[in-house]
Amino acid sequence: MIVSPKIRGFICTTAHPEGCAAHVQEQIDYVKSQPPLANAPKRVLVVGSSTGYGLASRIVPAFGGGAATIGVFFEKEPTDKKTASAGWYNSAAFEAAAAQAGLYAKSFNGDAFSNEVKQQVIAAIQADLGQVDMVVYSLASPRRVDPVTGEVYKSCLKPTGGTYTNKNLNTDKKEIEAVTIEPATAEEIAHTIKVMGGEDWQLWIDALSAASALAPGFKTVAYSYIGPAVTWPIYTDGTIGRAKLHLEETAAAMNAKFGPGTAVVSVNKALVTQASSAIPVVPLYISLLYKIMKAKGLHEGCIEQITRLFAQHYGAPGGPQLDEKGRIRIDDWEMREDVQAEITKVWDTVTTANIDELSDFAGYQQEFLRLFGFGLAGVDYEAETDPLRPIPSLG
Ligand code: NAD
Repeated sequence: MIVSPKIRGFICTTAHPEGCAAHVQEQIDYVKSQPPLANAPKRVLVVGSSTGYGLASRIVPAFGGGAATIGVFFEKEPTDKKTASAGWYNSAAFEAAAAQAGLYAKSFNGDAFSNEVKQQVIAAIQADLGQVDMVVYSLASPRRVDPVTGEVYKSCLKPTGGTYTNKNLNTDKKEIEAVTIEPATAEEIAHTIKVMGGEDWQLWIDALSAASALAPGFKTVAYSYIGPAVTWPIYTDGTIGRAKLHLEETAAAMNAKFGPGTAVVSVNKALVTQASSAIPVVPLYISLLYKIMKAKGLHEGCIEQITRLFAQHYGAPGGPQLDEKGRIRIDDWEMREDVQAEITKVWDTVTTANIDELSDFAGYQQEFLRLFGFGLAGVDYEAETDPLRPIPSLG
């Protein structure tokens, strides 16, 4: 079939197999162009490993440090009539590249929140690797089935303090409009914490620990975001921010159990991913941010961010440098005073009429399409392609 993008709001329902493979290869090439990682973990489990920050967290230790990796994700399989989701093709391409480089890679496509997937992963670790040195927790999900009660929890992206109105970018129409979001109920806040907070991270670590699948001195990291004041009502002070606070509390609880520095929350930069494009207000902020950071030569994607996480934090002789709340801050360039001062300046003036001049919306759109394998150099998008691409380790 010939595969072209089919965009519905903030998702694209098709993905290009060769395009996704080219996207993964670009990231591998970037990592190989960097110095090899010092103190690299050799056996790494990544939960949420097929797209965005999690995919980068699989590529960096594998191709920068020669690590064996196990990846867990929840992706749509292809049929002969329908393409898979992008994360499926990314994982197929990752495994092919890992095999070529002689690196162990095993993948699990299933619900990471379930006990079954945890047990399957633990069995693979015990059989193939013995233990893991690092667990990266990079899930972004709109729902979670509680593994004990079977109850379904849904996360939402709402303010918690009161009604919030701000500028929003309608990415379909390329128009800036006002968006008003009513505050979450107490139940919606609790549900979002259940889905995106630290409970499942803790369940993973406890299950791995109970099975002696964690190496002495193991490390675990989960990702968070803070961003500028303009997005605080919807992010940091919103339902998702409450969940991220719970993630930090979970890290503290794990450190009390396993020793200081074992569990860390890394605050990452705002980037175009499938998860972030669903958050109101954020796509406009990202479009403005990209323009400013590119002009200053500070722009990074997931792969550059995660390379810095491993090279400059985990690779540093004294381990990661932490902020006053015990977090890693690879959002440091985004949060630089000069960058944020420019954001504040353009935020009030940006309108539909001057969006091309003041923002990098073109870059945003390009990056969004690339998530699904479209717009990659060297890929013939007019050519017939086979949607059926196996992920070898899934069998
Ligand atoms: P993403 O949508 O690109 O990736 C999500 C991953 O989770 C995918 O691999 C997906 O398959 C997997 N997943 C979802 N539900 C699952 C389930 N039930 N079982 C197994 N796997 C499942 O998201 P992302 O933007 O890379 O986000 C990853 C983390 O990084 C999140 O915690 C997010 O809050 C954080 N973060 C993102 C940004 C950003 O701007 N994108 C910034 C800072 C922090």
